[in-house]
Amino acid sequence: MGKKFVRAIFPGSFDPITNGHLDVINRGMKLFDELILAVGRSPVKNQLFTPEERVEMIAELIRQRRMPGVSVESFDGLTVEYAAKKKADFILRGLRSLTDVQYEFQLAMTNRAVAGIETVFIMTSEQYGFTSSTLIREVASLGGDLSNLIPENIYNRLKQRLKKSKK
Ligand code: ADP
Repeated sequence: MGKKFVRAIFPGSFDPITNGHLDVINRGMKLFDELILAVGRSPVKNQLFTPEERVEMIAELIRQRRMPGVSVESFDGLTVEYAAKKKADFILRGLRSLTDVQYEFQLAMTNRAVAGIETVFIMTSEQYGFTSSTLIREVASLGGDLSNLIPENIYNRLKQRLKKSKK
């Protein structure tokens, strides 16, 4: 019997995508034949980049770094409905710390209860255990150096955006 083709979605806000997300994606590429990065369109307070901009930034990264089987799109509404539409076998989520675990367990159990879909968790490298998009936005707005925590093109976009929003 042939090996089953395994598809997963990696849903998130990715506002913006960080090296922590990329670390999870790189590890996920070893587990799945196809990995769809799914940028949530649900209205988030404090959003810095529009979903379209986030998709475009991630697409640029996928092109730059060779990432076979990885694609990106945005989605509306429930993650589990999107997963079903894409015929995904799994939802991928990243874990940084024990604080993530509580919320992620609740989310994963809810998704399994309502749609029967399993969530696969990947732990990030220690060096990204403290990296979050929220902190990235804050540190960037205060002019901190983020070159170790986000890809260069994302950093440049972030600096441009913050310059504009200050005007
Ligand atoms: P959401 O709003 O859905 O939490 P995020 O973009 O903040 O969207 O996160 C998407 C997923 O990536 C979540 O599973 C989150 O735990 C994970 N994640 C975020 N930052 C990191 C990181 N530095 N290392 C590993 N996983 C991360």
